[in-house]
Amino acid sequence: WPEEPSHQESEPAGPLAGPNVMNVVLVGAECAPWSKTGGLGDVMGALPKALARRGHRTMAVVPRYSNYEEGWETGVRIRLRVMGSDTEIGYFHGYIDGVDYVFVDHACFHGRQDDIYGGDRQQILFRCALLCKAALEAPWHVPCGGAPYGDENLVFIANDWHTALLPVYLQAHYRDYDKMTYARSVLVIHNMAHQGRGPLAEVEGLEIPPHYTHLFQLYDPIGGEHMNIFKAGLIAAHRIVAVSHGYAWECQTQEGGWGLDGVLREHSWKLRGIVNGMDYSEWSPGADPHLRSDGYANYGTDDLVAGKARCKEALQRELGLPVNPDVPMLGFIGRLDYQKGVDMIRDNFDWLMHEGAQLVLLGSGREDLENSLREMEASRHQQCRGWVGFNVRLAHRITAGCDMLLMPSRFEPCGLNQLYAMAYGTVPIVHAVGGLRDTVQPYNPYENTGTGWRFDWADSGAFRDAMGNAIYTYREFRDSFRGVQLRGMRQDLSWDHAAELYEQVLVDAKYQW
Ligand code: ADP
Repeated sequence: WPEEPSHQESEPAGPLAGPNVMNVVLVGAECAPWSKTGGLGDVMGALPKALARRGHRTMAVVPRYSNYEEGWETGVRIRLRVMGSDTEIGYFHGYIDGVDYVFVDHACFHGRQDDIYGGDRQQILFRCALLCKAALEAPWHVPCGGAPYGDENLVFIANDWHTALLPVYLQAHYRDYDKMTYARSVLVIHNMAHQGRGPLAEVEGLEIPPHYTHLFQLYDPIGGEHMNIFKAGLIAAHRIVAVSHGYAWECQTQEGGWGLDGVLREHSWKLRGIVNGMDYSEWSPGADPHLRSDGYANYGTDDLVAGKARCKEALQRELGLPVNPDVPMLGFIGRLDYQKGVDMIRDNFDWLMHEGAQLVLLGSGREDLENSLREMEASRHQQCRGWVGFNVRLAHRITAGCDMLLMPSRFEPCGLNQLYAMAYGTVPIVHAVGGLRDTVQPYNPYENTGTGWRFDWADSGAFRDAMGNAIYTYREFRDSFRGVQLRGMRQDLSWDHAAELYEQVLVDAKYQW
């Protein structure tokens, strides 16, 4: 396992000036606060702002799923050829926090606000191809309050398989024809589990020149011979970033690569891990608007004990749990998926109840796991709430009110909830994997260090031991537990440091052939 540099190793440098100031275009299928299903949306919401703060001219290109108040019609409409048909798109624009947000307008996105990845395969591929093509043209056509970006010092940052066609299109449709020769592309891996796999014949529909088809071709035991869009993007991109140091390593292993580990090992020279930051303007216990009503309270390191006690009581009341300041309260927030290890919480449910803990779960996803939440809530113990759904306000309140946050993820590329938890003085209990291993340092009672509890195997027993240790410390050694909370809160987990590392990648790419 490679040594990971921590977030806090050095102070981030100030804004950049001079020849390495870049024109950056980030492209993604979701972008908070307008559209979000998970961490990708959070990253698309925050990284552009952090790059802009560092002095780069920064654009974020995202679909216009709905009529967003902040996006203004630019009047620019262009025609694109997408999957065999000529179609017209429009660009909406909003300049917010130093970032040009460009919303791509096309009927295929409309009404998909709550179903971003829905539809049949052809519809999904169409939206992906269209977004990539629209993003590649955006620097030329969208005026962005002055001159368009053009291609000088231009770098596209594509995210996950949905935009992995972008590096391929950039090369095959532009650079091979001596256009955009100064433009570069970076592909960010947020999750290897989704790769845009399909029948090989589908490549034909994507306007890929025949001599590029082999980039899409993959044979592996999971899919046999198939088309793999992520693979093509990873090969065509000038640089690859994985969202944590640990994940950059894991995705080169057979277990973590989901069939693409060989490709990544071959291209490891251009792969780098950068841990996501967190957006303190959204997640800050001292300023969180979701804590201003219903008995909750804003708090900081100075009034941690009183502030958290109020939030815990308010959460217990809001959810109809017995109000008790001393009961250890454990939370979970996230997609209900095999990845997130919710089944390991279910396995330990009886034990947790026997321990006298309270459990609060918020999530949506797989039906059987949603039912597990309902069953735990309905159990005779009356100490558990399982809220099925997506609820941002409740996510903030759980993060503030609970004493500990559970993240038994089987794999976790970066994970954001553990960062939010630490910022709120809520102690994370995590499987030591991917970004969780990078960001949560294990509690060491002898040296009084560490910001949470970790366990090394994705196994219910190991998870139970970690929860047991955390609960024991909470009950018997309150001061030590408070130390863990305060160390978590005092870290600088902001995007500024990550943005500086991204900048190194962009500049590196600029000087590559
Ligand atoms: P992933 O991207 O794998 O889903 P992350 O931990 O990186 O996981 O990011 C998840 C983000 O989505 C966090 O901001 C989390 O608070 C949010 N989230 C996930 N599920 C829910 C939910 N049911 N309600 C509200 N927010 C949620």
